[in-house]
Amino acid sequence: MDGIRLEDILLFDRILSGARQVSLVGHVHPDGDALGCVGAMAAYLAGKRGLNVRGIFPDVPPETLRFLCREDFLYGNRDRDDVLRFIEGSDLVILMDCNSFTRTETLEDALRGSKAVKVLIDHHLNPDRDTFGTVFSTPEVSSASELLYWILVRMPDVAGNARNLPPESAAALMAGMTTDTNNFGNSVFPTTLRMASELLEAGVDRDSILEQLYHRYRENRVRGMGYFQNQGLHITPQGAAYMIATRKLLRRFDLRDGETEGLVNVPLTVGKVRLSLFLKEDNGYFRVSVRSRRGTSAQQLAARYFHGGGHENASGGRLYFPEDIPSPEDAAAYIEKVTGEFLS
Ligand code: 5GP
Ligand code: MN
Repeated sequence: MDGIRLEDILLFDRILSGARQVSLVGHVHPDGDALGCVGAMAAYLAGKRGLNVRGIFPDVPPETLRFLCREDFLYGNRDRDDVLRFIEGSDLVILMDCNSFTRTETLEDALRGSKAVKVLIDHHLNPDRDTFGTVFSTPEVSSASELLYWILVRMPDVAGNARNLPPESAAALMAGMTTDTNNFGNSVFPTTLRMASELLEAGVDRDSILEQLYHRYRENRVRGMGYFQNQGLHITPQGAAYMIATRKLLRRFDLRDGETEGLVNVPLTVGKVRLSLFLKEDNGYFRVSVRSRRGTSAQQLAARYFHGGGHENASGGRLYFPEDIPSPEDAAAYIEKVTGEFLS
């Protein structure tokens, strides 16, 4: 694993040995990778290092990912006072699965103001090296969970053997990697398969993880997805596909937070589609998910038109109204215009 230097591992081990209270922080709208790597680190630091840890997220994750949440997780939009107190009392803050405190939104100021030692563990482009004393960063892995796996197995008390990880850490890392690769559908590196193999050998129950990730949805999700793949799907002549989930449609199909996850990938199964966008209405903006085929940059589209970013072929951002478009009804016209511009 090229993204990890031995001297950083030794330094990180020393930092952990000197720490007492640790904030493990993930990004807003936590996904499976963010929850997986924070949970895995929490189980390792609490179980093997005896540290006082909390997983901290700006907001409560969707019901569909609740099985990845530990008892010691705190959420800014539910436990704000506890979160601020815990950050304030921490001597170590570790940010995972995003490249900057900016992605923690409502917790950004508290985290920036903290006097704690700061460590970054991430797989996105452009890590904020000015803020973090120690940075583990490479885009050459499937997920933050994979990067964390290669860090943890190098720790002296794990000694290269996944069997020495707490079982909860091992399972959480497998789950996080599985979600970010869409179950080995994208972003798979040789190291990813090696990690999966070692975790299986260590006893991780992958079938149970797949069951919880992909076979526990409510009926509404499948029916709602039918709509978005039928009348709800628009494909431009240049090969941009988009779906717009307005509040009204989400209510009509009774779709809850997390239940539209993955839909954005479906249009890319059509040969002529190079770019796929899924818009989901929130308070004053649409959350925008962008996926692209190789040779087309989802990252550039998200940065240029949606105040966002992410990975080359999987990115996200926001479309604000009335700032970017006069009203939610103008989203389709905006998408047609910017994707036309972008793909020509
Ligand atoms: P998703 O479409 O699954 O929400 O996000 C896909 C990728 O884009 C993730 O890697 C995520 O980190 C990134 N991403 C999603 N939303 C935003 C955003 O608002 N800003 C930035 N910079 N990245 C985002
Ligand atoms: Mn990730």
